[in-house]
Amino acid sequence: MAESRRVIIVGIPGVGKTTLVSKVVELLRSKKISVNVSIFGTVMFEEAKKNGIKDRDDLRKLSVPEQKKLQSMAAKKIASMTDDVVIVDTHAFIATKEGYYPGLPHNVLEILTPDSFIMISARPEEIYNRRMKDTTRNRDIVSIEAIKKELDVTSAMLSTCSILCGSPIKMILNSEGKIDEVAKGIVSAMGFNNGT
Ligand code: ATP
Ligand code: MG
Repeated sequence: MAESRRVIIVGIPGVGKTTLVSKVVELLRSKKISVNVSIFGTVMFEEAKKNGIKDRDDLRKLSVPEQKKLQSMAAKKIASMTDDVVIVDTHAFIATKEGYYPGLPHNVLEILTPDSFIMISARPEEIYNRRMKDTTRNRDIVSIEAIKKELDVTSAMLSTCSILCGSPIKMILNSEGKIDEVAKGIVSAMGFNNGT
């Protein structure tokens, strides 16, 4: 059996990762490619629920050692997936009260052994509006300036991940109203052509 291709998709909250990933999965499945999607925060939350955490958006408020433990449990679970493509939807960092904590510390990368990284980005104003409009989530509301900083920290964290793993980073701009086109670009960045 061929090995899975593991792709890690990162981007700051509200940039559109989960929206794009669900479209990418649709496109890959239509090509008869088996795909597993793990939303890292959701896998962590499944573990955290056993310890009484009730809201997924409370994970980032746990202490760093608690988040570290949940992270490595989630990574092990994801590493056991055997589909043709394994997509991990995650953050390059989590804003904790101690500072920016890596979503992909070295021990997690060693468990996941990704083949490639995709960084989703968008205009700071668009990200701000997406956070404001999305009532399904309890995201921290921060200024446009802070969003710019978050985008910078994401690329800094991700370049270290790329060096540690020897795996490339593809930068994707999730322009407003362009979900279908952007998702096609991701499928092609994964090495699958878009012919029907
Ligand atoms: P988080 O890291 O917090 O889970 P996310 O990156 O997964 O965030 P989504 O939940 O996918 O972000 O998207 C946030 C909001 O932005 C959603 O309401 C979604 O519909 C909207 N959105 C995503 N991409 C676009 C786009 N290209 N144009 C317009 N709206 C978009
Ligand atoms: Mg999401």
